[in-house]
Amino acid sequence: MLAASLPSPGSLTLVRRPLPILGPRDVLLRVEATTLCGTDLRIVTGQKTHGVTPGVILGHEIAARVWKLGVDLRPGIDAPAPGTQVGLAPEIACGHCVPCTAGRSNVCANMALFGTGVDGGLADVIRVPERALACITPSAREIAPPLLALAEPLSCCLRARTRLPITSTSRVLILGTGPIGLIHCALAAAAGASVMACGRPARLDPALALGASTVTASQGDELVATVREWSGGAGADVVIIAVGDPGLVPIAAQCTAIGGYISCFAGFPAGTLAQIDPNLIHYRELTISGSANATLEDYAAAVATLSTGALDLSPLITHEFPLTQVDAALDAVRSRAGLKVAVRPGRNKPTER
Ligand SMILES: [Zn+2]
Ligand SMILES: [Zn+2]
Repeated sequence: MLAASLPSPGSLTLVRRPLPILGPRDVLLRVEATTLCGTDLRIVTGQKTHGVTPGVILGHEIAARVWKLGVDLRPGIDAPAPGTQVGLAPEIACGHCVPCTAGRSNVCANMALFGTGVDGGLADVIRVPERALACITPSAREIAPPLLALAEPLSCCLRARTRLPITSTSRVLILGTGPIGLIHCALAAAAGASVMACGRPARLDPALALGASTVTASQGDELVATVREWSGGAGADVVIIAVGDPGLVPIAAQCTAIGGYISCFAGFPAGTLAQIDPNLIHYRELTISGSANATLEDYAAAVATLSTGALDLSPLITHEFPLTQVDAALDAVRSRAGLKVAVRPGRNKPTER
């Protein structure tokens, strides 16, 4: 089979590999689409090495179809029957560490991830070992594979949402209009909230298309003034930081209404610090929360949200490449040529929307 593997940091290589061996309690999936994100790029360029197994097959946003079940597995009982369209949650949690037993398997102390520690979705076939069978999540309805692959980033956004009270009367400010910021726009808009998105000028139209009612490219004090004006002086009820710029943390605090919530959703570069006036938190009674990865429940909710059409994220998929052109796919991510880039194992021609 064809696979994009990482023999060492900074060197993604397209290789021919034998098909994975199917153990008696394993499942083989045929990959139909794997979308790429900034994390993949950081792994390929060597900026991220923690938890990356040398020679691993990259790709963690995976839509697939069940191909073969190990001889000890009963179709439809232990795993979905062959032919079923499925998403694959990348988080393989241990189930017994302190975070896992406290219901936070998304930050498992012994986490293994498809596409980082375990072979991922940039291949024709992926092996799901027995300990990860629960990661296989059937789609209730057939949907476009690149759309189903978005269940992974959506699951992370849903995870953050469990601690953010967003209702139809909320004013929500999204800082950052990359794919993650845009998914947060769509989610908040679907809840009926009034959404302002702040990001680079080229991404403001997509933010409007995905549900933002107001967009701005302003920064710093100008952004604070813009948000105050938009909210009649009160500030936003919820501010989601969806880009890893620590300078946005104090800005977010200034943009937040009394009693409001701030989500540090993005990861920030290691070693960076944010300076924040603690009296803003104190006198304005702010709540600051973080969020990382997703639980299997979040992932199942994401697959259900996409497969029922409750949320339409299809405007996010702007590029599709066959696996043979994985380099071009990564270039499209690197140059921010589009929004989400999907790699389609088994396809031959690239398409652009
Ligand atoms: Zn990702
Ligand atoms: Zn654990």
